[in-house]
Amino acid sequence: RERRIRRGGRDNVLVCVRVRPPAAKLAAAHQAVDEVAWDVDEANGRLVQYTGGPEYTFDSVVTGSRNEEVYNEVGRDLVGAAMEGYDAVIFAYGQTASGKTFVLSGNDHNPGIIPQAVSDIFTFIRDHPEKEFLLRASYLEIYNETLKDLLDPTAGPVKVRQDEKVGLHPPLACRDNPELNDLAYEQKRFFVHPLREEVVTSEAQVAALLARGAENRHVGQTDFNERSSRSHSVFQMTIESRDDPSSSSSSFISEPSTPRRMQTPNTPRLAPGTDGVVRMSKLSLIDLAGSEQATSQMERRSEGAFINKSLLTLEKVIASLTSEAKQKPHVPYRDSKLTQILQPSLSGDARVAVIATMNPSPAAIEETKSTLKFAQRVK
Ligand code: ADP
Ligand code: MG
Repeated sequence: RERRIRRGGRDNVLVCVRVRPPAAKLAAAHQAVDEVAWDVDEANGRLVQYTGGPEYTFDSVVTGSRNEEVYNEVGRDLVGAAMEGYDAVIFAYGQTASGKTFVLSGNDHNPGIIPQAVSDIFTFIRDHPEKEFLLRASYLEIYNETLKDLLDPTAGPVKVRQDEKVGLHPPLACRDNPELNDLAYEQKRFFVHPLREEVVTSEAQVAALLARGAENRHVGQTDFNERSSRSHSVFQMTIESRDDPSSSSSSFISEPSTPRRMQTPNTPRLAPGTDGVVRMSKLSLIDLAGSEQATSQMERRSEGAFINKSLLTLEKVIASLTSEAKQKPHVPYRDSKLTQILQPSLSGDARVAVIATMNPSPAAIEETKSTLKFAQRVK
């Protein structure tokens, strides 16, 4: 089942480049040639410009439109890990219109990473009737370092807070390895508050929740496209499980009704199983803001500056995860809202995948090079 080409670095960060079809092909235009600036060697995970220049190599390079292929490279294993109690984070990074939303969300005929992950989660639950699961979902947007709860957009200001003490909350995951729990305790954890987390018991329910979130993202936005390209969207599923020797029928704990808003202390939790263990993990799926350089002076000062800062911080944080240095480098989680939110996962032993999306057209060459450089630096 090994299908990846390993590119050195540690395997807790996988990097996949997704090359979208050239624009002419998408428009079904009658151009004699599609202009493409890159020689793509999918079999070896390599890309090089036709005009020469450095060769870029990754864990995998995927062309075409089948989102399933990308899911096979970087989605499936991470979702499997999340079901076993490890945190997993998947990012789509790239310039606007390079295919981030396409690869993550997809469409009815070609489901993206998110619906495929959700489908696999419920399949896993059905396949493990000896366990009980509790699933919760949340969906938020970060725009100019301000958070909006997409499931409860009228809620007051959503903030990122931090534990006052180390180890105030139970560790993120009770795993078999006690050393990992110690890791989770080492830092004061960041958390979002208030954040609506909804208990979900079916794929259809998650789909409806995602649709509602997407709709709320549009609300009050005259310039939706502009804003969506300048904001990060963060969809998270929290997975709790315990061995359940008592029940062999349904593996779901159904909630009679979803509380209006669940805050940290009232969040429903599984009680420990007979062996005293509840595994808890988080799967985060993130559609990042467009990575392009700000175009106007004004933008450079406002949104552009925020985005650059948060993507740069993300790069430093992910790169530190793969650092082979004995002395752990300082990890600047607190420098952006996005890395604060992801700190509990990333400071543990989360599996991380970066899907770098690119437009192969010559017109996009500079932005594409900057995307590929990002993708190399995080590995
Ligand atoms: P982004 O979210 O990065 O701004 P989108 O996902 O919205 O970009 O993609 C821009 C356009 O290109 C959309 O119309 C989308 O359907 C199309 N597209 C992107 N990637 C692919 C692909 N791999 N195959 C077919 N169409 C794609
Ligand atoms: Mg998009």
